[in-house]
Formats: sequence, C-alpha cells, structure tokens
Amino acid sequence: MSFDPATLMTLTALTAATVGALLVFAWAQNRSHRALAMWGGADLGGAVATALLMTRNHTPDFVSITLPFGIIAVTYAVIWAAGRAFADRPLQPTWMAAGALVWLLACASPAFFASTQARVTLISAIGATYMLATACELWRDRGEHLPSRYPIVGCLVLHAGLLLARAGVAAVWTLPQGSEVLMTPWVALMSIEPTIMVIAGGFLQLSLAKERSELVQRRAAATDELTGVASRRAFLEEGERRLNAALRQGLPAALLLLDLDHFKQINDSHGHHMGDRVLQAFARRAVEILRPGDLFGRVGGEEFGALLSNTGPEAALRVAERLRQAVEDLDFSEGDVELRLSVSVGVATASGPSCDFGDLLRQADHALYGAKSAGRNCVQQRKLHAAPLLRAV
Ligand code: GH3
Ligand code: MG
Ligand code: MG
Repeated sequence: MSFDPATLMTLTALTAATVGALLVFAWAQNRSHRALAMWGGADLGGAVATALLMTRNHTPDFVSITLPFGIIAVTYAVIWAAGRAFADRPLQPTWMAAGALVWLLACASPAFFASTQARVTLISAIGATYMLATACELWRDRGEHLPSRYPIVGCLVLHAGLLLARAGVAAVWTLPQGSEVLMTPWVALMSIEPTIMVIAGGFLQLSLAKERSELVQRRAAATDELTGVASRRAFLEEGERRLNAALRQGLPAALLLLDLDHFKQINDSHGHHMGDRVLQAFARRAVEILRPGDLFGRVGGEEFGALLSNTGPEAALRVAERLRQAVEDLDFSEGDVELRLSVSVGVATASGPSCDFGDLLRQADHALYGAKSAGRNCVQQRKLHAAPLLRAV
C-alpha cells in the first residue's frame, strides 16, 4: 500500500472543513449547544492549518510551519474549551492561549526551529495535553448519563496517546529534512489518524448534544412546572416501580393521597396567583417533612401523592398526620386578610408480593373520599393485603 501525502493532506483538510461546517450548521439550528460551534470552529481551523502545511516549499517557513502549527495549537485549545462549555464551566482564555504562545515562543529560537524533531515533539505534547484535559472535562460529569460520553472520552484519550507516542518517537528518531518529510509513511499516518478523529469526534459531539436535549426533555416531562415535584406521569410510573421493588423484597409500602381542602375558595377569594403560591408552599413543606428517598408528586390540580417504601400502616399514619398538622400550621395571612389551609389525606398500605399499584391507588382514593366525608382536615386509612384476599379496613 502506498500513500501519497499530498492527497492525504487534501483529504484531511476537506474532511475537517466539511465536518466543521456541518457542526456549525447544527449549532445554528439550536444555539444552546455552544460546544458544537466551538468544536466545528476547531475543525475549520484545522482545515485551514492543513491547507497552509501543504504550501511547504512554496511559501516562507512562517506561513507553512509556524502559523499552521500555531493554528493547530489554538484548535486543540478550542476543543478543550468546547469540553468546558459542554460541562457549563467557564472558559479559561489564559490556558487556551498558552499552547499557541509556547509554540510561538519556541519557534523564535533558531535552534528549536531548525529541528524537525523538536517541533514535532512540542506540538504533539501540546495537543496531547489539551486532549487529555478535554477528556477529563467530559469524564468529570459522567453522573449525567449520556451514552456518547464514553466513546468520546475514549477517542480523546486514544488521540492523546498517539500524540504522546509521536512525541516520543520524534524525540529519538532522526527524520529526513525539508520536503522529504512529506514523503514518509510517517506523514501518511499523521494525516490518516486526525481525519478519523475529526469524523468520530464530530459524530460523537452531535450525539452528545442530542442525548442532552432528550434528557432535558425527559426531565421536564417528569417534573411539575409549578411546584418542581414529580409530574403525575412520573409519579405513577416511578410509584409502581418502587412499590414492586419494595414488595419483592418483602417490605411494606404506603401510598398517601393528599387533597387540599376547599382550594377552589382560595382561588375565588384571593385569586389564581395566590392559589399557585399556596400549591408551591404546600409542596415545599411536604418535601421538607418526607424522607429524602420518599417519592412525592402532583397527581392532579390540588391533589398530591407520596409513596413511602418500607413503611407499614402505623408509620404511614404518623407521616400522614405530621403532614396534615404541618399544613394546618401554614399561615398565608397578609394584614387583615386571613388565609389558612388544611388538607385531607387518604392512606393505603400494601404488603405481600401480589399487591398492585392500581389497587393501592384506588384504596388510597377511597380513604381520601372518606376523609372528605368525615369533615376534611383529617386522615383516613385502608390496608391492602396480598391478592386474592383484598381486604379494606
Ligand atoms: P375539596 O375540599 O372537596 O377538595 O374542594 P376543592 O375546592 O379543593 O376541590 P375542587 O375540585 O372543587 O377544586 C379544585 C380547584 O383547584 C379548582 C381548580 O381551579 C383549582 N386548580 C387546579 N389546578 C390549579 C393550579 O395549577 N393553580 C391554581 N391556582 N388552581 C388550580
Ligand atoms: Mg381539594
Ligand atoms: Mg381535588
């Protein structure tokens, strides 16, 4: 197999230009993904640098060596900045400029500039440093589950490893001088690897951006906009999952349905805005009282649910009573205008592996209805045992 370095470099430049332009285009569709624009800009810079490298022997050394590698140092820094932007961390202009400055300062030394080995070693070390820093930025936030995070970190580490290997080889291997450098298989390899990285990096950046958008949308759908607690859908899905998990482990679970009393009157007398404030304050207070691991969500307008794992009937009653009392203690009065709140609570508890979330909901709803009929501002309970012996107490 023979490689023509000029052809390879042309291919590298065209690939980088195409991928760069496509990333910038993708960013233009959704400008919240700043990292795409930066990564695309780095690819476009890489294309320009590669084109300048190809003018070797036709242009002064500054144009065909110093400038293109200076640009390459900047593009590495911009990729690192894209990693920070993706992680929502501030950019660090001084560190971004450091690589290019080190390169330009070194090139000012005639002894350094005369040595191809020294130049290859330095620019490779600069590139590897930025690539490893980028990998660290993306790795640090792995708590945010984005599947493309792992292959992109792998690509960056691999690229850094190859750059370091190149720096090591260049430090000990005597390269041919001048135009002969372009004719070595060495340059062919140096051209192919970045081309593959540009394609893989661009694809994975797009995937990352897409995965984050989907995650944000999923989170928004799972959160009630007004109160910030779980939405109805998220509560029902997660509640069923948690109930089944608890019962599989032989642990009891309790479901509390809480409905604010005469809430319509609050809207009618104090306005919808006040009603919203009351809903927010109620949700905040309930979250404070429940354990951090309990599930709490808004299942309807002024109706909320809490699923308490590993909680038997007596403990569930105590929690419900604490919530009821806390709501009674809330005071929204302003000046002469008095506004107090109360809540009715229906409690259902389940034990036994074949209890069903739908049944638990129905029992809690019956209990809530009972609490309303009993005059409101009180707690009623039902117990659900393993099917088929469905008993209401
Ligand atoms: P009860 O004691 O029987 O529960 O009476 P209630 O007035 O609380 O119940 P009803 O079902 O008659 O009224 C519920 C009210 O909740 C009606 C609706 O306008 C109001 N509501 C539902 N969602 C919201 C919301 O997001 N914000 C506000 N401010 N009000 C809401
Ligand atoms: Mg109500
Ligand atoms: Mg209601």
